[in-house]
This record gives sequence, structure tokens and C-alpha cells, in this order.
Amino acid sequence: MTPAVWFDSHCHFDFSVLDASREGDWQLASSLGVEGLLIPGVTRTQGESLSAFCAQNRRWRYALGLHPYWCQDHREDDLLWLATALQQPGVVAVGECGMDRVLVKEGSATWDAQWQWLMKQVELAESTGLPLVLHIRGAHDEVAAELRRRRFSGQGLVHAFSGSVQQAANWCDLGFCLGVGGAMTHPRAQRLRRTLQQIPPENLLLETDAPDMPPAFLGRHHNSPAMIPLYGHILSCLLGIETEDLAEQLQKNLLRVFPVLAGSEMAG
Ligand SMILES: [Zn+2]
Repeated sequence: MTPAVWFDSHCHFDFSVLDASREGDWQLASSLGVEGLLIPGVTRTQGESLSAFCAQNRRWRYALGLHPYWCQDHREDDLLWLATALQQPGVVAVGECGMDRVLVKEGSATWDAQWQWLMKQVELAESTGLPLVLHIRGAHDEVAAELRRRRFSGQGLVHAFSGSVQQAANWCDLGFCLGVGGAMTHPRAQRLRRTLQQIPPENLLLETDAPDMPPAFLGRHHNSPAMIPLYGHILSCLLGIETEDLAEQLQKNLLRVFPVLAGSEMAG
């Protein structure tokens, strides 16, 4: 049997906190079968550096977007930049964009401001045909309903999914995959593990969200794409399927949701 091949579908591998460990983390991840990763865009400034960052390694791919965490940094003309930058060959998706109710509670970004940035990026996904990478916390119902209302026909990833079975089903109906990572490893995440067991494997993708969301067993150490094969084993146990079969299914899901990854660079 050929060894399982994995992919980290959401990894902030460009963040400077990883500067000292990036090379070692990548070597370890590759040696364990992680064949690539998708780095989301979060701001214009960071997005402008991603093409050069990913030129270092053809297995590192990127999306471009304006993340709700940085709402206060985004400027109106960042959308013009984004519309142009998304035309670059090799851009995999629009995002990371989304809605985060915690930011509203903390007072760092209003619901309306987040909604406007998100909808502009949904429009860009519609006009470019690129999939969406979504960050959704406490807003699954609202965003899924709006995408349904506007008959969004694209695909995408709802990263770090932690909603209900019904919310998962709504995303699956829209053609989205749900990102699964460190959260499922925490002893108290029983509801999430039960939810994952009810999501069709065709709608799952693995992700680390490194350097964030470390698994329970990593303590305070920053997260790394090298965790992905372990997540694969854990998820295959949860779902009651063979690890290799899961890896194969996830690879199919990845190329379905992010067709740009099926291009020559990843296939080689
Ligand atoms: Zn992220």
C-alpha cells in the first residue's frame, strides 16, 4: 500500500512567529507525507508578500483575502487591489474572509463592517469563479443563508468548523468542505467529535491553522503542519475508516474544492 499523502488546507505558515522553526517544521511535515499547504491571505500588506513567500517552495500555495480580525486595517481601495491581485496565476481562493461574533462582543469590529467586507469578497469569488476560504464564528446560520439567498454556486472551505450538525449539513448543501484540526483533539470537544462523525467524508478537509489552534497534546508550543498526519489518524478512527482511505478521500475533496491545486505544480 502506498503511504498516505496529506495536505494542510489552512496554515498561516508565513506568520513571523514561525520564522525560527519554519524550515524544520516543513522538513518534518514533508517527511510524514504532507505534500502541500494552503496559506490564507489576511490583509493587503500580508497578501502582497505571499506570492514571493510561496515562490520559495512550489508546495506552498496561497489565497488572497481580507480577514475580519484586521477589519480596522482594511481600506476601501484594498478591494481594488484584491480584485486585481486575484487575477495572478496560481491564486487558489478568495480568503480568508468571514464573520466573527466574538469580535463584535469585544468591540473590535462591528457586525456591519465585517458583513460588508465579507460580501465584497463573496462578489469577487462570484466574478472570478474562485472558491471561498471562510472564517466563521457564531455566524454559520447568517452566512450560509445569505449564500443560499444569492445562489452562490462556487465552493469553498469553512475553516476550523465547530458548529452544529445542522449547520454542517447547510454548508455541505452549499458544496462547502469543513476544516477539521486541533479542536477535535481536546478532551472536552465531545460535541465536535460527534458532529464530525455525522458529516459525509466528502465534505471534510484537514487543517492546522498553524501557528494557532495547537492540539491538546502540544501544550503551549506553536502548531505546525507536521500535525496533519496525526490528525488524519485521529479522524480516521473517529469515522471508523482506514487512514489511507481517508487520505485518498481528502485529496479528492481538496482538488474538487480548490481546482487550481490540480494544476501542474501540485500534480508533479
Ligand atoms: Zn486562519
